[in-house]
Amino acid sequence: MDIEKNNCKICKSKNLKSYVHTAKCTTCGVLLYYPYPDDDKTLLRKGKNKKWDNQKSDQEAVLIHYSRSSKNNHSLFTHAISYLIDSDERYNPIKILDFGGGGGQFGLICKSIYPMSEVFLTDINDNLLLDHNRSINTQIKQKDFEKSSIIFDYIFLNDVFEHVSDPKDTISLLAKKLKRGGKIFIDTPRQFWLYPFTRIFFKKSIYKKLLFGTVSKNHLQIWTKNSFKMCIDNSILDLKKYDELSEYTMPPKYYTENMGITNPILILLSHIFYTFSRFIAKNKILAVLEKK
Ligand SMILES: [Zn+2]
Repeated sequence: MDIEKNNCKICKSKNLKSYVHTAKCTTCGVLLYYPYPDDDKTLLRKGKNKKWDNQKSDQEAVLIHYSRSSKNNHSLFTHAISYLIDSDERYNPIKILDFGGGGGQFGLICKSIYPMSEVFLTDINDNLLLDHNRSINTQIKQKDFEKSSIIFDYIFLNDVFEHVSDPKDTISLLAKKLKRGGKIFIDTPRQFWLYPFTRIFFKKSIYKKLLFGTVSKNHLQIWTKNSFKMCIDNSILDLKKYDELSEYTMPPKYYTENMGITNPILILLSHIFYTFSRFIAKNKILAVLEKK
């Protein structure tokens, strides 16, 4: 699937309103990193173009990332697993794919809940899988993934769908890797009320910081319900479950730093927002797709 540079990559509309490093599609509502990066394709599955040549530093980066996020991830992954997989499956030798699984923490939690399962992992960077998680995760190397003949019962995209350069292409590929009746789990950021509110009232200050904190070469699209549904509108997949909720993988300091917030009053307000977020901000989409 080719992405045309002047069109929305989700709905193909030309109604893109660009602002700083982003564009908002006024047809489907998605917020995009824009202009699309030249090396965009490397972020999906043509990673052979990109050199990942330092396994040691890649693994160190994963450990630093995990030291901040793994406690939150532990409960998020547990919730994701019960959201997708019926508990009767614990007696079955199910095949599970962790797509974009990075260091492999998900496999640990998955195997502890479903000991009969086999967990596979693939990622754009093969180096990220931590050595101590290799016995839990069967790694499918990036270059082998597309031609691999393994068919899965369940596929997880834990905070991955915002990273892929061509989400429609990713969904089509994963649908082929799923058995009939198999399911895909997606959790990914959405634009909640803070986006339109700050865009209208604080466009050049807080909205700009919000964009710098949440849209980047790594986070290529932030969804709305409409754009998400348009993207997964696929003849062989049904949207079985869709929820919006509050969910964070990192402590509040991580987000304020990312947004470049240094004003102590804004930092305090951000921490208060984070604390009460589950009551006031549904920042994530959780969804299940099933193959017909
Ligand atoms: Zn669009």
